[in-house]
Amino acid sequence: MRVLRPPTHPRESVVRQNPSFQPARARGGDRADDRSRVRTVGVLAHVDAGKTTVTERILYLTGAVHAQGEVHDGTTVTDFDPEEHRRGVTIFATAVTCPWAGHRITLIDTPGHVDFSVEVERSLRVLDGVVVVLDGVAGVEPQTEAVWRLADVHRLPRIVLVNKLDRPGADLDAAVASLRRELGAVPLVVQVPIGREAGFVGVVDLVAMRAVTWVDADPGDRADVGDPGEPGGAAGGMRVGPVPVELAAVAWRARRELEEAVAERHAHALEAFATTATATATTGTAGRAVPDDVLAAAVRDLVCAGEAVAVLGGAAYRNRGIEPLLDAVCAYLPSPVEVGAVSGTWQGRRVERAPDPAEPLAALVFKVVSAPTGRLTFVRVYSGTLEKGATVMDALQGRVERAGRILQVQADRHTEVARAVAGDIVALVGLKGARTGTTLCVPSAPVLLTPPGVPAAVLSVAVEPQRRVDSDRLAQALSRLLDDDPSLTVRTDPQTGQTLLSGLGELHLEVTVTRLERDHGVRVTVGRPQVAYRQTVEVGVRGVTYRHVKQDGGAGQFAVVTLDVEPWPDAPDGAEGFAFESTVVGGAVPREYVRAVEAGCRDALQDGPLGGHPVTGLRVRLTDGAVHVKDSSEPAFRVAGRLGLAQALRRCRMRLLEPVTRVTVTVPPASLGGVLGDLASRRGRILASPDEGTGGDGAGSGSGSGSVRVTADVPLQELFGYATALRSRTSGRGTVTTRPAGYDVVPDAVSGRVLGP
Ligand code: GDP
Repeated sequence: MRVLRPPTHPRESVVRQNPSFQPARARGGDRADDRSRVRTVGVLAHVDAGKTTVTERILYLTGAVHAQGEVHDGTTVTDFDPEEHRRGVTIFATAVTCPWAGHRITLIDTPGHVDFSVEVERSLRVLDGVVVVLDGVAGVEPQTEAVWRLADVHRLPRIVLVNKLDRPGADLDAAVASLRRELGAVPLVVQVPIGREAGFVGVVDLVAMRAVTWVDADPGDRADVGDPGEPGGAAGGMRVGPVPVELAAVAWRARRELEEAVAERHAHALEAFATTATATATTGTAGRAVPDDVLAAAVRDLVCAGEAVAVLGGAAYRNRGIEPLLDAVCAYLPSPVEVGAVSGTWQGRRVERAPDPAEPLAALVFKVVSAPTGRLTFVRVYSGTLEKGATVMDALQGRVERAGRILQVQADRHTEVARAVAGDIVALVGLKGARTGTTLCVPSAPVLLTPPGVPAAVLSVAVEPQRRVDSDRLAQALSRLLDDDPSLTVRTDPQTGQTLLSGLGELHLEVTVTRLERDHGVRVTVGRPQVAYRQTVEVGVRGVTYRHVKQDGGAGQFAVVTLDVEPWPDAPDGAEGFAFESTVVGGAVPREYVRAVEAGCRDALQDGPLGGHPVTGLRVRLTDGAVHVKDSSEPAFRVAGRLGLAQALRRCRMRLLEPVTRVTVTVPPASLGGVLGDLASRRGRILASPDEGTGGDGAGSGSGSGSVRVTADVPLQELFGYATALRSRTSGRGTVTTRPAGYDVVPDAVSGRVLGP
């Protein structure tokens, strides 16, 4: 694993600890006052791999809910929003806390659809580990790869559950091979399935060398499953026993492979392995080259350090494999204590905070939801203790607020708690101003933790209230939605005066419009989706002076600014792409007016010279200016900043930028030529295709055997209707998945068309 190991990262400092391997029940209680028993994990997957079902089964088994819901009958707990049932896509990340084996596991449910990748990003930021669910038939799918890369970026330790092992064609080994091949992962397979497909009844736990089987077989008959609170219920449906004789040889071989894989990477395990290497791989203890506890601890170390991933099997829909998955979360994924200190900044200085309840408070706001009952602010406490009703400082806005009530979230139900400590994820009621990405801290020890990245909005629709009287309500509702979802933006089209709502894709915008109507009661007319263009500075200008002077009677306005503008092509990802500095000397512009000029420049970025599209990728320097003792004011300097930058940008050479989408197409080989030609005619840049031998290896995924895969970057503008066109070109056998791939320069011929004469 290449990206996972910068030598100084805190995830390196893994505490060696003996994992609890007893299959424990929720009745073991929540001893989470001990921070080493807290786990915060997310479940990630390609759509349909079974993420929702896995989450449901976890909640049921841990007693967090008392009835199992099925995705298809619309009763699951995490999908409590009716909108989600309608679309079958998990939209809202929900934090659910549940007890298991003396641990407290908080599950952050993350949406699988790429239109909501902002939700995935935000939740990844607060996780300590991830469960990646694979479809046991399809193995690694394009979206698996997308979420895997995100988890790489956040350096999150991973467990993989190969789900749906009951399906025809499911194959744990093939899925493991796809992990190696497609993702370059180092899988540590800790189970061997017992039975195949419809006969899949359990697993051999290769660490404890025992068989775990489940007895109830009929997923349709919920009465068989029983109540997890009672002995002999669903969890009681699990049986633990010796490895079946007919599987012993296979299991011991797999155990040895696991030991070798671990010993190759782990010094302590290698030592044990070397001293007992002469042991024969038959049965019983004679077969163990590494003692169970040493093996478990080594798996844990490797997983926590991101050097390997633990792989388990299951069939969530049939309630098989969930208890060992929970045990593995406790055994192999890190606690907040092991993850170590987080860093942030304050006034340009780096600040470190340890995950200790006694440290000063630092809590990251990772989601804000306007629920019918009020505003819910989801935070992860990284250090210190947050008391109910405490006064906290919002580090982004420099404002002090009262924290109000603290809720621990169990899907759509909430339990009130008196305090939250380092490592906890809770929702706060009563915070009015705090927005996603800010840090709550004590005013005496301020810190701003690195906020989660926000992907750029790529698609816009014009929205208009159906009744004129609703204009104000629309504006209010939009501003509430923007608070909840920083990946949305709203602006006024300078040419048409229409309100343009921009988001991450068609589905994202549709859902937002539905929420406008359903949650805020504003009915709107929606225009055709338009690509959200931007523009950037190709060649800058220096020394543009703007005089905002009105001194003709009444209160005067006086502000003079001189600005330099230069391109900033390598602005950091996730940042807004705008940097401002002042080199003014001798007080020509006092400090408070410099801030007003910066705010004015930001205003100007909303409405650039090429067709009014937003401006990004530039540095602006205030080099000089002038004030008037009586007539200068902050508003006057803000106007001067806005109009001054607008004037400077008109003198720059600007380039139009368009959103680009990474497209992965899986098609039958016979259609390959046509598909490549079509992508080229859509201005696509082919990144990998079987012909070019740059990565496509002919291994199909999702569309049956004998398919080939093509990856290309295509301008979003050219992708409308692509899925339909692909289906007809391939007689329904082609599939496509997409994810945003940033912005790129629009060729001159095309930008002429976009901007008009
Ligand atoms: P998500 O999109 O990843 O959240 O996937 P869901 O949990 O919604 O599951 C997608 C479909 O697969 C649903 O119809 C589930 O009932 C089904 N499913 C989930 N797990 C299993 C399993 O273990 N075996 C089988 N055969 N079907 C499953």
